[in-house]
Amino acid sequence: MTCTVFVHSDCARHVTPPGHPERAERLAAVEKGLAGLAVTRRDCPMGMEADVLRCYPARYLDRVRAAIPDEGWTQLDGDTFLSPGSFDAAMRAVGGICAAVDAVVTGETKTAFVAGRPPGHHAERETAMGFCLFGTVAIGAKRALDHHGLGRVAIVDFDVHHGNGTQDLLWDEGRCLFVSSHQMPLYPGTGRADERGAHGQMLNVPLRAGSGGKSMRDVYERVVFPVLSAWKPELLLISAGFDAHADDPLAGLEWQADDYRWLTDRLCDFAGGRVVSTLEGGYDLDALAASVAAHVGVLEERGR
Ligand SMILES: [Zn+2]
Repeated sequence: MTCTVFVHSDCARHVTPPGHPERAERLAAVEKGLAGLAVTRRDCPMGMEADVLRCYPARYLDRVRAAIPDEGWTQLDGDTFLSPGSFDAAMRAVGGICAAVDAVVTGETKTAFVAGRPPGHHAERETAMGFCLFGTVAIGAKRALDHHGLGRVAIVDFDVHHGNGTQDLLWDEGRCLFVSSHQMPLYPGTGRADERGAHGQMLNVPLRAGSGGKSMRDVYERVVFPVLSAWKPELLLISAGFDAHADDPLAGLEWQADDYRWLTDRLCDFAGGRVVSTLEGGYDLDALAASVAAHVGVLEERGR
């Protein structure tokens, strides 16, 4: 076995206005990072509405679909745009994570990475925001729980921004541990340590700007890994944003590609190594390519 990477050309059809950091070129940078890795590649199937509806009311799905423009852009908030290809792109990202969960849960592959966009972890139950339309990682967790009948899953979100959408969608979900490490203060402003979820199943780990990779490793060792270990997840999902990298223009945690290598390797020690990772942020193209190479390189090694 190896790591299975899910991609689809539709994900490049979500087009954002010139100068927007969350741009289609990010997928080319991801491909650069994947070059030379011995991964199995699969197309993301189109996502199914039933999977979205585990997390969202039907009126939200209808509202996003109805807002898709025939040309140009529709703006949903200060930084979230829709282009004619955005709905299909977002549904491929949903289909990708659901297919990845299926493949890992059934043992077809041990690890998987979904290189989809738009990202998902800021989209709340009734609100697209922060470049995100549907909370893909939460949708993947619900598929593992409700479709496959797993009893315990965990999500680790190491994007530099708090995964407020994932937190909102899974606030009442007692079968899913949600861990988010993020720079604070920073967009979207949530993610204080006292935000714990309805069942105490959420762990928010705010990090200081400029704190760096050594501090990250220390806090994961001291705070995160013991909680993950006690949770005993059957599947681990990762919201893999690479915007904590030192070269990223949107934040300042000062991590390096090697920090992603270390963190990914340690995360593969949980859930029997059954890991599904999905792309979130990461806006410096060279840093994104290097970080994806490090992250998926470990998923490939550990997936053998
Ligand atoms: Zn981010």
